[in-house]
Amino acid sequence: MTPVSPPTIAAIATPIGEGALSLVRLSGEHAIAIAESVFRGRTSLGAAAGYTVHHGRIVNSAGETVDDVLAALFRAPHSYTGEDAVEFSCHGGLVVTEAVLSALVAAGARHAGPGEFSRRAFLNGKMDLSQAEAVADLIASSSERARAVSMRQLEGKLGEKVRELRANLTSLCALLEIDLDFAEEGIGVIDKNEIGDRLRMILEALRTMIESYSSGRLAREGVSVVLTGKPNAGKSSLFNALLKEDRAIVTPHPGTTRDTIEERVLINGLLFRLIDTAGLRQATDPAEEAGVTRTHASVRSADIIVLVEDGSLPVEEREIETAVADCIGNQRLIVALNKSDLPSRTVDSEIYPRLSARGSRVVKTSAITGSGLQELRSALYESVARDARDATSGIEVTSRRHLDALTRASVAITEAMQTLDAGRSNEFVALDVRDAILALGEITGDVTSEEILNTVFSKFCIGK
Ligand code: GDP
Repeated sequence: MTPVSPPTIAAIATPIGEGALSLVRLSGEHAIAIAESVFRGRTSLGAAAGYTVHHGRIVNSAGETVDDVLAALFRAPHSYTGEDAVEFSCHGGLVVTEAVLSALVAAGARHAGPGEFSRRAFLNGKMDLSQAEAVADLIASSSERARAVSMRQLEGKLGEKVRELRANLTSLCALLEIDLDFAEEGIGVIDKNEIGDRLRMILEALRTMIESYSSGRLAREGVSVVLTGKPNAGKSSLFNALLKEDRAIVTPHPGTTRDTIEERVLINGLLFRLIDTAGLRQATDPAEEAGVTRTHASVRSADIIVLVEDGSLPVEEREIETAVADCIGNQRLIVALNKSDLPSRTVDSEIYPRLSARGSRVVKTSAITGSGLQELRSALYESVARDARDATSGIEVTSRRHLDALTRASVAITEAMQTLDAGRSNEFVALDVRDAILALGEITGDVTSEEILNTVFSKFCIGK
């Protein structure tokens, strides 16, 4: 039976809206025939070579001209998807692009699903799965740092490293299996210490990659910063002052900020997601209660907590101590002593040296005059600068999916080492090694399932 080729797909690849130009993409076995049937130009697309551009009109099934376009022609396998493909540069209007797309669909193309072009590129071996994911990340990058990390992944750096480790493990597995055959005859071909050393080196490499996730994640998703503190301490004012915009509602009455508000700022090329909260106070009505619950959730998952204190009031040692005690894992705490423009009633407390000793910064700010804001920005950046270092040449793991696979691989290698140390047969060591090989293969897509592909590509938009 001859394999059925996938249908030819079409989609608008540029943002929906008005612009000078828009791109409508067509890919699949019948892409060129479909394009030719709606295209009226001086040259016939069917006879044209790949990597050529043609000027012409698109006509619909009623024979009316829909738009004046340029058609870029790609012949398989030399296209993004690896299939025959045509990209129409049309006029960038909502109705115009839709009309071009409709003409293609009427001529036999099917509307593409989310990420379907990239999925085909992966299935046709144009890129590995980690590179396909990098396409989505590159497009979504909201800071220079995120762009650089995604670009390295798109260039295949992560895939290369994973494939190298996988090849190492595969050859080790082969040796273990050969050894097993010879062991029956009482001859060992591979030294137990050598297996141990090779496993250790691979584990070391996996750990380095796993550790890079903390910086990779910060680069990709940004650093989440939660402003907490008593009502009226000036959280919303400080939030707005940092943004230099007036988005959150500020009033002199406690309890106005009912829910969390998130805004983004760039500090030294790194994205910070500032989260203004409802404050951790006892809720008095259900709407406020929901806000307080969300506040607790964002505080728990934040990278940095900025505890805003009203510096014109006596120091709240208990509140500060609770905030210190509540920091989870690698969370950093910054105390902003706000309203520094007002006479200070905060007697110098020994709590501040204690905070500094544990690496928490205390910054005096005034949301009203702007004093201390630059220092607060520096404190935010410096508290994650080490974790968010820019690994210009190294590999940074940015995706939770990759982290999970690497973690599973490292668990399997650790188990292989334990099996080896316990003096068990190579057969069992090889079983663990094989688990690691499978886990690593999920990153590049060498080992994959419909489920993995659906999860990955469902996050893409249509036309990507
Ligand atoms: P939140 O409840 O912590 O979000 O506090 P708000 O930002 O709503 O501020 C409460 C009140 O304190 C408002 O009247 C602000 O104008 C005032 N405020 C905030 N920051 C400062 C500051 O740095 N100096 C002075 N003098 N007043 C401030």
